[in-house]
Amino acid sequence: MAKLEVLNPATNDVIETLEYTDEATINKQIENAQKAFESWREVDAHTRSQKLWAWSKLIDEHKEELAELITKEGGKPLKEALGEVDYARSYVDWYAEEAKRIYGRTIPANTTSKKIIVQSFPVGVVGAITPWNFPAAMITRKMAPALAAGCTIVCKPAVQTPLTTIRLVELAHEAGIPEDAIQYVIASGKDAGRIFTESSIIQKITFTGSTPVGKKLIEGASSSVKNVTMELGGLAPLIVHKDADIDFAVDQTIATKFRNAGQTCICANRIYVHEAIASTYVEKLSQKVNALKVGNGLDKGVDIGPLINQKGVDKVIDQIKDAVSKGGKLSRSLEDIESLGGNFLKPVVISNVNQDMIIMHEETFGPVAPVMSYSKLDDAIQYANDTEFGLAAYFFTKDYATGFYLYDNLDYGVIGWNDGGPSAAHAPFGGMKESGYGREGGIEGIQPYLETKYLSIGNM
Ligand code: NAP
Repeated sequence: MAKLEVLNPATNDVIETLEYTDEATINKQIENAQKAFESWREVDAHTRSQKLWAWSKLIDEHKEELAELITKEGGKPLKEALGEVDYARSYVDWYAEEAKRIYGRTIPANTTSKKIIVQSFPVGVVGAITPWNFPAAMITRKMAPALAAGCTIVCKPAVQTPLTTIRLVELAHEAGIPEDAIQYVIASGKDAGRIFTESSIIQKITFTGSTPVGKKLIEGASSSVKNVTMELGGLAPLIVHKDADIDFAVDQTIATKFRNAGQTCICANRIYVHEAIASTYVEKLSQKVNALKVGNGLDKGVDIGPLINQKGVDKVIDQIKDAVSKGGKLSRSLEDIESLGGNFLKPVVISNVNQDMIIMHEETFGPVAPVMSYSKLDDAIQYANDTEFGLAAYFFTKDYATGFYLYDNLDYGVIGWNDGGPSAAHAPFGGMKESGYGREGGIEGIQPYLETKYLSIGNM
């Protein structure tokens, strides 16, 4: 049986060795999920809600243990990992309540002898594939609404971070959610993607990850017209207008840009600052960024952990070198950025940036903040929208007219106005354009797990 070594990106030590699930077993698990669906769909909404609340309670009771796992396999600082556990649990709480609000409606017919009733039904067995950067939240954001809707779910976590998923699923079973209703498989994305899309049992694929992989899954799912939700890559712009509170904008830039060492789908990838304040903003930002502490996420006081692997490090270094070759100025030298070795990179601000640099068009996934100045707001909007991505965007202004003008004209699904942390379980998270389709969170986040059926009753 092939083995998977789970590594700690801070040390490259093996934390645990798991066995890959073979194809026959994955197919058996999917069959079991179908059997579990027949009974889970019959469980009343209030009972499903109570089971989700029981799961939430256990997640809370095991918060420290889960956070430590997240830090060990994913690298983020422990304080961020604790925040992620709360964030992951908030989806379970939200959908525990939404389970009870899957409302139907009646439609006035065009004759009094008819009645039309509309109701929602669970889609069936769901196949989920998730990334490594939020090993807990990306799981609950899918599992909780699926279970709340009455679906059953089989999840394939990223090979870098399977341990958090395994523990979350164990806790769900402990909470009384039937074993076959919520399952995981240990497999490569390529294998799981093929098995899930080819399965005649799986009715829905929900995916969070990169856009190229999302496209492959959409293609695979098309042969059987499977329902898909795609939470894909981003290239978030962050605009700081001339009337912004600069100190506040700097702090919020750091919050969005450097969380998880810059490895989040909604972290600011490109920063556009009005020319009147650009040099002050760069100076203040550079000072604070250069003071952030980099190290093993388990150590006290660490702000930035390692990147997930060497491939991630190489990509970031290539983007920095490209920017420097085109005139970019670094807040610390390249030698200093790389000085800690391993998967660690010290954070850096790049000023004197222009739109020709790769970093302004390619997702970075690293602790680098490129800053470009603009003179007219419409130019900043044009730069911001000049991408195939449309996940998150940020802007800072104290002026309401400017704020609503930006909100109306930025082609993004998630927008933070004077807010570097817009994600919330109660809001519909998701992207436009090649950042995907479907929403997770909010009242919208349960809809992808439901089918609409209507009943027309005649001869009344
Ligand atoms: P990734 O390479 O697309 O991997 C994500 C998942 O897809 C992993 O489980 C991976 O499996 C699997 N996968 C790889 N190849 C596959 C294939 N051919 N068919 C089916 N599944 C396959 O992305 P990542 O590097 O883990 O995560 C970073 C990306 O995710 C970024 O682009 C980021 O913006 C995006 N993201 C988006 C959101 C959002 O909500 N929109 C949230 C977080 C991250 P393996 O385990 O084998 O690698």
